[in-house]
Amino acid sequence: MDGKPTYADLEKKIAALNAELAAQKTVAAQYRNLVDSTDDSLYLVDADARYLFMNSNHARRLNLPPAGISGLPYADLHTPEQTEAFAAKIREVFATGASLSDEHHSLRDNQYFLRTFSPVRDAADPGKVAAVSVVSKNVTSRRWAVEALRASEEKYRQLIEYSGEAIFILTGGKIRFANSQTEKMLGYPLDDLKLISFINLVISEDREMVFDRQKALLHGDVSAGINTFRIVNKEGATTWVAQNSAAITWDNSPATLNYMRDITRQKKTEARLLQAQKMESIGTLAGGIAHDFNNLLMGIQGHASLALLKLDRTDPSYDHFKTIESLVISGAGLTRQLLGFARSGKYEVRQADVNALVEKTLQTLGRTSREIRIHRRLADHLWPSDIDQGQIEQALLNLLINARQAMPGGGDLYVETKNTLSDENRFQPLGGRSDRYIRISITDTGVGMDEKTRERIFEPFFTTKAMGRGTGLGLASVYGIIKNHNGFINVYSEKGQGSTFHVYLPASARPDKDWDRPAELPEQVSPGTETILLVDDEAMILDVAGAILKTLGYTVIAARTGADALAIYRSRQAAIDLVILDMVMPDMNGEEVFSELKLLDPQVRVLLASGYSLNAQAERILDRGCSGFIQKPFTSADISCQVRAILGSPGEHPRRESAQIPLPLFDKP
Ligand code: ADP
Ligand code: MG
Repeated sequence: MDGKPTYADLEKKIAALNAELAAQKTVAAQYRNLVDSTDDSLYLVDADARYLFMNSNHARRLNLPPAGISGLPYADLHTPEQTEAFAAKIREVFATGASLSDEHHSLRDNQYFLRTFSPVRDAADPGKVAAVSVVSKNVTSRRWAVEALRASEEKYRQLIEYSGEAIFILTGGKIRFANSQTEKMLGYPLDDLKLISFINLVISEDREMVFDRQKALLHGDVSAGINTFRIVNKEGATTWVAQNSAAITWDNSPATLNYMRDITRQKKTEARLLQAQKMESIGTLAGGIAHDFNNLLMGIQGHASLALLKLDRTDPSYDHFKTIESLVISGAGLTRQLLGFARSGKYEVRQADVNALVEKTLQTLGRTSREIRIHRRLADHLWPSDIDQGQIEQALLNLLINARQAMPGGGDLYVETKNTLSDENRFQPLGGRSDRYIRISITDTGVGMDEKTRERIFEPFFTTKAMGRGTGLGLASVYGIIKNHNGFINVYSEKGQGSTFHVYLPASARPDKDWDRPAELPEQVSPGTETILLVDDEAMILDVAGAILKTLGYTVIAARTGADALAIYRSRQAAIDLVILDMVMPDMNGEEVFSELKLLDPQVRVLLASGYSLNAQAERILDRGCSGFIQKPFTSADISCQVRAILGSPGEHPRRESAQIPLPLFDKP
């Protein structure tokens, strides 16, 4: 048999070859479809970074014909830097035989690509890398989305980080997330905060409340979201905070989102304001009582004076009336303390050397307390201050007596005076107005005070002393007196650590030549015969003061209201030499009556009378030409002296002749 293939065999073989070719064409076409149908760029590169093949998508990107690019160097189409980076990757795949990927920014059209470099094995020797295939995926839009997300996250982060409030999330009572303000406010770094239960940072008194609120919030009670409490930071300092919370879900757990603000300053201001308001209303109350009580004393005083005017010294009742007078003086001392607290004004304000006054007061004290060592640090060239020496002396004495009582077993007492400038704005919240103050500091090494006591010491009748030892009026009157002098007072004290009281008094605007001139005191009773219009809404005062004046020889016309007084003055102006005018009256007060009187008669002489000592209103009236001021209760000597001071000695009275009348037997108490 001849082995020659037959025609039929050949035909068969050709058919088979054709079929195989067709099949291969189909496979090739399918590969082609596969690589061309994707949006990604696909290409093969040799070891020298030359293109061997690329899909049509990539050819389009590079603006190349779909075929015939074999051998085209990558460098021809890219910058040297891009080429170097690319060639390095190719070399690496050839060397390692492993895939790798990078992100590539195409400068051609500002697009971003994720490229995967994979080894293509040699068909004959699978251990050898024949080429590198690159799949390059356009990730520009995904990248922009990530970028946008990052930018918006950054904005939120800034919003949270730069917030002045502490912002944090609590789950299971622990802080899970916190901004830097939280770390600042609490004093711990976030890592530490995550380990501490938040409730342990709250001061113990407030813990239960904060805990209950957080619980209520998690149970849906939105009203529990606003809360004020105190926290203790790492240094142990207490801060008042206001917290605003909302229930949220955090990492699939129920949580609260909390905003916390430091309100310590606000709380302090509030407390100060409350204290000021409290003092104000206590002052009004005390003042009202003292005012009425003072009128009663005036009645008692007046009747005692009247009785004394009529009695002979040898009369058995004489001593009783003298005793009544001296008791009234003690009573008036008490009401004066109260009125001093109740914003009454100043008596006798003149420029004075406070050092000298301190010295004088210390001497009074020194005589009575030998077991106390007194240390003085009095400033040289202390600025003078416009003060009522009597009142300031009383205030200092009250402070010194308290200091002494705080050191029952003896101790050290430091008294210091000093010039201070109020450039420190700490004086503003206290109502400081002047820019120069003198400061008197009284320090004792006694029992000191706890905070609860310290808060109340200026209240009238607040005392921690045994019945009979303390009235609780000492510091109340100090407060009133200092306040009336436009000064203020500070206290530093701890239980068992002694106390310091700082009294600030405004320095005089300018030094006055005649400072330290002593107040002239009324000495004796002087009679007169002039006509006096006596105006007071209290019938009792009209009676008793009227009787005193009549006894002294004056003709008295009484008026119970401002309107009556004006009507009388209008009709009998020529006959009236002096008006004694009560300052506090219900319908028309002293100031209004004074204005009307001035209109009727610019020469009118008015002596202002008040239970309150000389205050701003009285000073205003005096500035407008009122002739004098007298405080109730007054003795016959006081009133006669004031009246004569205004009308002149009986002989020199300009309007009317006056006759000497016999002076009744009378002694100033
Ligand atoms: P009183 O002395 O009559 O008690 P004060 O108004 O003078 O009234 O003082 C009120 C309270 O203030 C005192 O009872 C005392 O508790 C407290 N206090 C005042 N000064 C001092 C001081 N220097 N040291 C300790 N406590 C003081
Ligand atoms: Mg006291």
